[in-house]
Amino acid sequence: MRHVAIIGSGPAGYYSAEALAKQLGEDVRIDMIDRMPVPYGLIRFGVAPDHQSIKAVYKRYEKVALADNVRFVGNVCVGQDVSIDELKTLYDAVILATGAPDDRPLGIPGDDLPGVIGSAAFVGWYNGHPEFADLAPPLDAAAAAVVGNGNVALDVARILAKTPAEFAGSDIVAHAFGALGASSIREIHVLGRRGPHQIAMTPKELGELGHLAAAAPRIEPEDFPPEMDDALLEPGLRKSVTHLRDFAGLDAGGKPKTILFDFFAKPLRIEGDGKVERIIVEKTRLDERQAAVGTGETYAIECGMVVSCIGYKTPPIEGVPYEADRGRFANSEGVIGDGLYCVGWARRGPTGTIGTNRPDGYEVAEKIAADIGVGGRKAGGDGLDRLLEERGTDVVTFHDWQRIEAAEAARAREGSPREKFVAIAEMLGARGR
Ligand SMILES: Cc1cc2nc3c(=O)[nH]c(=O)nc-3n(C[C@H](O)[C@H](O)[C@H](O)COP(=O)(O)OP(=O)(O)OC[C@H]3O[C@@H](n4cnc5c(N)ncnc54)[C@H](O)[C@@H]3O)c2cc1C
Repeated sequence: MRHVAIIGSGPAGYYSAEALAKQLGEDVRIDMIDRMPVPYGLIRFGVAPDHQSIKAVYKRYEKVALADNVRFVGNVCVGQDVSIDELKTLYDAVILATGAPDDRPLGIPGDDLPGVIGSAAFVGWYNGHPEFADLAPPLDAAAAAVVGNGNVALDVARILAKTPAEFAGSDIVAHAFGALGASSIREIHVLGRRGPHQIAMTPKELGELGHLAAAAPRIEPEDFPPEMDDALLEPGLRKSVTHLRDFAGLDAGGKPKTILFDFFAKPLRIEGDGKVERIIVEKTRLDERQAAVGTGETYAIECGMVVSCIGYKTPPIEGVPYEADRGRFANSEGVIGDGLYCVGWARRGPTGTIGTNRPDGYEVAEKIAADIGVGGRKAGGDGLDRLLEERGTDVVTFHDWQRIEAAEAARAREGSPREKFVAIAEMLGARGR
């Protein structure tokens, strides 16, 4: 029998389990270990609560999770409750699918002021991540700045702009729903160092901004390159740029909130007396390599909150080689070292959609199938159970998770698919055993 441990139950973890089960059939036992008592990683804690059709991908993972040779071992943090060396002793192969949950800092003066929030924290707050439940973002100012020109920046801007009625059918947590409903924010600035042709925003997500009930997007027409240059863009980006051009000609129609795209805007510093009061920005232009260079001209955006959406990094784990500059595990095409592999954001860094993690899982499963042979008489899950029991770790199984999920569904508000538990103790309590 071959024993494989997958650390992390997000998309990359589940695609790896699916691929291993296909490759090795009945001759493999897979343990999916997660530090959270609930599975699915960013599907639960990252993907926007008003994008339920995307979150529904978890149903595919559920099929994998319910296979006889796959276990969920939740509420177990690798690096704290059990070490990588211990797992390597217990399993024939260990796959790190730990994602990239840490915010990259803005790295400008004032980025430590209260009111400067990383997107992992802000998104975690509205999605009910236990570590960010107490964030209390300052929503009492008239304006907020969102730094970044990718889909996460769009999610944050949209969530700040929506009316309570527009969250119907979402699984936004109650604390965020209430706070956002009482928010005073009327202007949301989305800052990018480069221009409309350099965005990393996908057309569907961008297009949504044109249909919000109480908010209208605004773009300065002079920020666009000549329209004929759009023909040179790849089709997805061209569609996104078409949305931006439409926004530039849009009549706000008296909507009370505005989402302003500040292109060619490089954050220089954040100022305020004990909290964020403004962000100082330098106008940029593109050089011949399409890089942003400062023009020396600056302006201030008065705002009470800055949300930075400029990327994430994987935290290191003791015993695993790490590339600090890229914020991910050191690896060659998913192989870290003998019996140790990585997939997903922990392998590639924080880029790509949910589906981008699938080939990683299949590639690593093929490598493991080639490397592992018939298995090495390791103790596998039985050994892990003994170790965790000795340590008094309160392990959450997949059946426990199903009870937690049922309890969440039972307390759902009308029009909402699920009222998520936010505190770990609540999740553990909902197992009812
Ligand atoms: C805000 C946001 C919105 C997004 N929206 C979309 C979208 O709409 N559509 C789309 O296609 N993609 C979206 N993505 C991208 C998508 O979520 C990622 O591609 C995907 O989640 C990466 O999968 P992963 O398995 O590598 O990491 P994750 O999903 O982060 O999973 C990592 C798992 O590892 C666990 N873990 C971490 N450290 C440890 C440890 N030490 N011990 C045990 N367990 C650990 C975590 O608890 C987590 O469950 C979004 C990303 C973000 C950040």
